[in-house]
Amino acid sequence: MSYSIAIDGPAASGKSTAAKIIAKRLKFLYVDTGAMYRAVTLLMLEKGLDTKDSKQAESILEECHIREDREGRIYLNDRDVTSRVRENDVSSQVSYACAHKCVRERLVALQQEMAKSENVIMDGRDIGTVVLKDATLKVFQIASVQARAERRYLENKAKGIAVESLEQIKEDIERRDYIDSHRENSPLMKASDAIEVDTSDMTIEEEVDVIIHLFRERIGETSWNNLVQSL
Ligand code: C5P
Repeated sequence: MSYSIAIDGPAASGKSTAAKIIAKRLKFLYVDTGAMYRAVTLLMLEKGLDTKDSKQAESILEECHIREDREGRIYLNDRDVTSRVRENDVSSQVSYACAHKCVRERLVALQQEMAKSENVIMDGRDIGTVVLKDATLKVFQIASVQARAERRYLENKAKGIAVESLEQIKEDIERRDYIDSHRENSPLMKASDAIEVDTSDMTIEEEVDVIIHLFRERIGETSWNNLVQSL
């Protein structure tokens, strides 16, 4: 039997940083679903397409091959676009491109395929509600807009990504939250069986500890000991 941890939540709530650390610690596969939606968006932008147009989105899906490796790098048609998809032009358009049914169906199928044969931790907006409905543990991570904007600001700076002002980042986060929560297809929503974790005042280490603790509680001591022994 394989385990799965689903982490959903709004933009920049620290999901992916925590998920990557947990994946390393428990030797789970980490899948960054946001990066996949970003890769589709990038391809649309490169082709000069309108990200709000579902027909135009559909037209590129055939030639859009997305792959993630175990180090969390994302490839678009075999090109490493890991840093490129974090740039502001992609961030500002991704909520439009990802809202189309055709795009979501394609990527959800890919994500489910990746989770089929091994322990997995996946983060996104619809993991607990759509992608991994039977996840062992579902976490819905929230944090104040201020805390999220500050984190994103520092993260972008550290990664050498063109830095917007804190105010601009806040606006982008609020705009994306609004679109993600109000779209017709798989809106950002807490699954009824998800546990809410507010990370506004937590360090990443604390966040990781909370999620691992919840997971350990969920599977029970015997399974936990077996898992730890197999690492
Ligand atoms: O997590 P990240 O900020 O990289 O996600 C980028 C965007 O992709 C989100 O704002 C959201 O619009 C979309 N997304 C989604 N479903 C997911 C993951 C991300 O709609 N499972």
